[in-house]
Amino acid sequence: MQQDAVIIGGGFAGLSAAYILARARRHVTIIDSGTPRNRFAAHSHGVLALDGKSGLEILADARAQLAAYPTVTFLNGEAHAAQGTIDDFHVDVAGHEPITTRRLLLSGGIEDRLPDIPGLTERWGKTVLHCPYCHGYEIGGGPIGVLSTQPMSAHQAAVVADWGDVTLFTNGMPEPDEETLALLERRKVSLQPGTVDVIEAGTCDRLRVRLKNGRTFDVKALFVAADLHRRGTIAESLGCTLTETPAGMIIATDTVKATSVAGVYAAGDNARAFGNITLVSADGVMAGLGMHQSLMFSGHS
Ligand SMILES: Cc1cc2nc3c(=O)[nH]c(=O)nc-3n(C[C@H](O)[C@H](O)[C@H](O)COP(=O)(O)OP(=O)(O)OC[C@H]3O[C@@H](n4cnc5c(N)ncnc54)[C@H](O)[C@@H]3O)c2cc1C
Repeated sequence: MQQDAVIIGGGFAGLSAAYILARARRHVTIIDSGTPRNRFAAHSHGVLALDGKSGLEILADARAQLAAYPTVTFLNGEAHAAQGTIDDFHVDVAGHEPITTRRLLLSGGIEDRLPDIPGLTERWGKTVLHCPYCHGYEIGGGPIGVLSTQPMSAHQAAVVADWGDVTLFTNGMPEPDEETLALLERRKVSLQPGTVDVIEAGTCDRLRVRLKNGRTFDVKALFVAADLHRRGTIAESLGCTLTETPAGMIIATDTVKATSVAGVYAAGDNARAFGNITLVSADGVMAGLGMHQSLMFSGHS
């Protein structure tokens, strides 16, 4: 049966959009491969009234509540292609018949690619962190590291300094300019040149940052700006316009999260420069409203 909307990616953005459409009694299929970006963290913060709940738990609750709506279908798997035009899109999922739909939402999120330093990946979301607003409070002050991965890392260090005593490990990145050095000095950030060799266990649950020159620094947490990559290439294959931001290439959308391709919407980390659960959920709500309005007024409802 043709769907009103197919949602590729049932994370925070996708499920928020589905919720709006389900409550408008529209037929919506959510395709999800089950690997939300924050799955590495045991707790989420900064989400009103859900402080400390894990992202996976929040999503499981949302899925359970959505499943009570009779027009909602869940499909566990990965959408690997989509084609067609407004009112007649086809989505391919391995092991299933192609799904036909009038509207399409791309909400597959992004992935964080970390520098290739031993000891980093296994600590991601635990003591190797991406955002002080999400996880800085729990560190409880004390020594904190910031690993330089890009010019903006110096600014990240200046911000993280509100949560503890920060050391910026330059790790081979060029020395910041004079203005940035003055900012780091004002923010009491100490600069540590040298290449990081390995991240290992330190004393008292701390991390030990070991430099190639043999020096070591024990910190309570290490912030790292990962390389951000949109997941999949369905947006490109449909012809959606992309736009460059400080956080990488995202899908360009208008205020109701419509892309440049009629009938295709995008919401979540893949369509905004910096996301968190609340912001992408709001984008998903907007996309749900946009798709519903479009189904009513610009299609053949
Ligand atoms: C370690 C870590 C901790 C974080 N902690 C917090 C926090 O405490 N508070 C906070 O507000 N934010 C936090 N964030 C940010 C938050 O996780 C993201 O902003 C949020 O997950 C983005 O939601 P989304 O719906 O865009 O994508 P995601 O949540 O990543 O969901 C995308 C979904 O789409 C699926 N998918 C992708 N491609 C396909 C496809 N082709 N077919 C089918 N399914 C597909 C994926 O499997 C996934 O389930 C954290 C991020 C990280 C990295």
